Amino acid sequence: MEIARFIFNAFAENTYLLFDETKECVIIDPGCNNEFEESSLIKFIRNQGLKPVKLINTHFHIDHVLGNHFISSQFQLIPEFHEEGMFFFDRQEDIADKYGMNYNGSKKPEQFLSEGDLIRFGHTTLKVIHVPGHSRDSICLYNNDDKILISGDVLFQGSIGRTDLPGGDYDTLIEGIKTKLFTLDDSTRVFPGHGESTTIGDEKVYNPFFRY
Ligand SMILES: [Zn+2]
Ligand SMILES: [Zn+2]
Repeated sequence: MEIARFIFNAFAENTYLLFDETKECVIIDPGCNNEFEESSLIKFIRNQGLKPVKLINTHFHIDHVLGNHFISSQFQLIPEFHEEGMFFFDRQEDIADKYGMNYNGSKKPEQFLSEGDLIRFGHTTLKVIHVPGHSRDSICLYNNDDKILISGDVLFQGSIGRTDLPGGDYDTLIEGIKTKLFTLDDSTRVFPGHGESTTIGDEKVYNPFFRY
């Protein structure tokens, strides 16, 4: 599986494209919020000859969904995310106003993602790992063949997601990371929703939230 990263919008959010040799591709957390960002994403997809087949949000915070409308209209895709994300889905216009962001809305999911679900595209499978605490709807996506984890705003290089937003809970987040992510192989590469990639092994050793 190959992975391409784009850094979009005022929150410096990581948008990921996952694809394999079949050229089928999954768009994760499209944060594109202006024409330049939208066209850079489209150009990459065209140049690589990719065929987007799924639109997935790791959680429904504004910075991760700003491009949902654009992606849906370009590729006729309906977003998939965890059902708890509907809390934000129903309030997103107000939240966008508060942050002064230009939000064009999002299509409503036809199905939700939950713990243990398998997402298939091309020859690739992603497993859904539900890790609430930053947000109730936070999911991570794990590819076992290449040991890659898309961690959303759950686990960052040297940090964890903030827990002071609605539905956040510090103890739940710490426990979820310990029991569901730190049990993955140390060599697993972690691609977070903000900042640089890391590995599970490095975070166990260097992340200040997990030093005893
Ligand atoms: Zn978030
Ligand atoms: Zn974020």
